Amino acid sequence: MKKVYCDNCKNNVEYSIRKNYIEEYKNCKVNVLENIGVCNSCQKDVFVEELENANLLRLYDKYREINNLITRDDIIKLREKYNISQRDLTAILGWGKMTINRYERGALANKSHNDILKIIIADDIKFYEMVDNAFLEKRITKKTYDSLFEQKEKSNDNIYKAIIEKVLTHDASIFNGYRKFDIDRVQTLISYMANKFDGVYKTSINKMLFYIDFISFKELTQSITGLQYIKYTYGPVIEKHYYQNIIYNLQEKYVYEEIETSDSTNTIVKSLNNYDLSIFNTAEQLIIDRVINSLGKLSATKISSLSHEEDAWKYSDMEKFISYEYADKIKVSY
Ligand SMILES: [Zn+2]
Repeated sequence: MKKVYCDNCKNNVEYSIRKNYIEEYKNCKVNVLENIGVCNSCQKDVFVEELENANLLRLYDKYREINNLITRDDIIKLREKYNISQRDLTAILGWGKMTINRYERGALANKSHNDILKIIIADDIKFYEMVDNAFLEKRITKKTYDSLFEQKEKSNDNIYKAIIEKVLTHDASIFNGYRKFDIDRVQTLISYMANKFDGVYKTSINKMLFYIDFISFKELTQSITGLQYIKYTYGPVIEKHYYQNIIYNLQEKYVYEEIETSDSTNTIVKSLNNYDLSIFNTAEQLIIDRVINSLGKLSATKISSLSHEEDAWKYSDMEKFISYEYADKIKVSY
């Protein structure tokens, strides 16, 4: 047997194990077994690191069980669910570097950490909200962020939809064309456009959404999707444009493929042809068709440069919302 140092004998000694029960821990009746080393020479207790570590883990596990606290396995399962490292999870939560590592090795989480972990384990949307904040505050990389939003299974559609709705829904105002954001309308519209052209570039779809919404506002005094757009270098884009990825990751009505060319990667969207246009009224359907028929046959670059000619883009501030007031000045012919 391995020897340990005995303070009393002042020597490395062989030891035996005696059993003891810890009755109480932090005002909680735990009644947990602990193994204690006993010097074979003098019969006094000796410190045996392995035994102490195991004792602590047993004690903490029991304490967690009694108080219904997060377990090591709960945290590991959470990381496996999203396929993220201990470091990523710590960064998402904004905690000290080694926190998750310590908890997974058995340390007791403090009350506030425990409560937060419980919430994000139970609620996917809360988890993604924290991911989003972590990205905005630059605690996680774009790569980590994108991988978390990369949808692998159709069964996640409802979670993703809920996230998008939570983030993109605002009260009706001049910035969403006086319509509350409607994800079903967006999905239907994208699926319809993709079907019309047997696949269409994501960049073209984004610009057509802008034109459809603004022209609808001009003619019918209300947008079609309720999306808010901001001015960006490449033209008008959906607000919080990283959420675009989530919209395209929905797999209910369309799928996408990445097409590699020599100088860039384009995303082409293919319709699953299961859209139902009846969620749009006749006047809306006419506008949708007119815009798609006139702009859909132009290249993505051409539509993009047309959008740069619009007052809506020219007179809005960079990275700020584009007011639907500019709808009256739309120059593109449709
Ligand atoms: Zn001894």
